Amino acid sequence: MPYLSTRDRRQPPERVPFDAVLRDGLAHDGGLYLPAEWPKLSAADLTALRGKSYAEIALRVTTPFLDGIVAPKQWEKMIAEAYADFDDPEIAPLKPLGDGFWLEELFHGPTLAFKDYALQLVGKLFEYVLEERRARVTIIGATSGDTGSAAIAGCSGAALVDIFMLYPKGRISEAQRRQMTTVAAENVHAIAIDGTFDDCQDLVKAMFADAPFRRDLNLSAVNSINWARIMAQIVYYVAAAVALGAPERKVGFTVPTGNFGNVFACQVARRMGVPISEIVIATNRNDILTRFFETGRMTMGTVEASLSPSMDIQVASNFERFYFELKHGDAGAVGEGVAAFRKTGTLPVTEAEWKTARDAFTAARVDDDGTLAEIKATHDATGIVLDPHSAIAVAAAKAKRRDPNLPMVALATAHPAKFPEAVKRAIGKLPEVPERLAQVMRLAERAPSLPNSLAAVEDYVRTYARAAQTAGAAS
Ligand SMILES: *Cc1c(COP(=O)(O)O)cnc(C)c1O
Repeated sequence: MPYLSTRDRRQPPERVPFDAVLRDGLAHDGGLYLPAEWPKLSAADLTALRGKSYAEIALRVTTPFLDGIVAPKQWEKMIAEAYADFDDPEIAPLKPLGDGFWLEELFHGPTLAFKDYALQLVGKLFEYVLEERRARVTIIGATSGDTGSAAIAGCSGAALVDIFMLYPKGRISEAQRRQMTTVAAENVHAIAIDGTFDDCQDLVKAMFADAPFRRDLNLSAVNSINWARIMAQIVYYVAAAVALGAPERKVGFTVPTGNFGNVFACQVARRMGVPISEIVIATNRNDILTRFFETGRMTMGTVEASLSPSMDIQVASNFERFYFELKHGDAGAVGEGVAAFRKTGTLPVTEAEWKTARDAFTAARVDDDGTLAEIKATHDATGIVLDPHSAIAVAAAKAKRRDPNLPMVALATAHPAKFPEAVKRAIGKLPEVPERLAQVMRLAERAPSLPNSLAAVEDYVRTYARAAQTAGAAS
């Protein structure tokens, strides 16, 4: 299965192999990668997945996307390793909320948020591809919370990877910080920057733009636009649909959304043949996507802090993958549309495209009061304690389900113990702390701090990255 860039307007477009897609993340023309076609899961394929383990479903769902880069036996082993350390044997258990609503818990990985489901696997994939090529990479990234810790957990100890995560000093929660700074592996470097999250992101962009630095360090990223992450996320949609009666029975999903990555994975499951009849996009007050579905205009706003910080995003970068679909694969139109969005703050969408988008998705906004109210309501009714992101999904699912006979799955994307203050405000008590988080709160931290200066950060990375030492020795 080769890949294409959403902005490659050449005829025919270049067909890019999976390992390049994995390593580069972003295409060289600035576009995002998509498989040239969708592999299919037939009704018989779905029936055959009934009663299978998460790892077995992952193997079946992801193998066609690998383009033959990883041998099947090896891939099976990597999947088993990626999920071996999860703290629930079902990996992504479904819990009934009553009335046909379900919760799919995606917080049983090492950092207690759903990003582990992809990054554990992507970490293994990186290592494998690097070993094949006997290469080293330096992964750099900026994080405002869950991504950085999940990326670190996915890469810690990898012999050929060094990872540097920049986070804004004093602006992430203690649990989030500790999940990065208590990792003892020598290849892991979490760096506090005297600045905001945007400053961290600008530093990362500037390092990628510094060509000699990028080359010497063999820079790479595992940010949310990396196709391999989306690929790994398709699995839990297939697993839930099969558990709830697919292929005979249709199912709906409600996805608490920031960058549109997780929603797009759901859309891919649908394209592959999973009978998903409703997808609800749930946003917080940072509602660029909800406003788009309501008005047909995708217009940038300013980011405001909410109780669900991992959804505090105004530019949903993965939307470009769906935009490509809306434009019927016209890469020129995608490139022009995205350029116009940058320039004017509004993405050009026709009336017909808006209608197509509304047929595919429904959207709902849930503000902080609604979030707290849902944590309380769900707790009162079921005893289940939701984190703020998951509460937004549950509230949106209840508000927007069109067909009351449809099983509707709301995704629980983080463990409540990661957001104890919000939970306490909602139900008057703190959530239980899982053992792995309790441990993180006890371990010693290693937290270097640097000024908001490109020279200082590049200097630090050159000093500690092993790729730089190899490059130095060779030149
Ligand atoms: C990242 C994140 C989201 C948003 O996911 P997207 O793929 O960016 O839409 C939602 N909830 C939690 C807890 C997250 O960490």
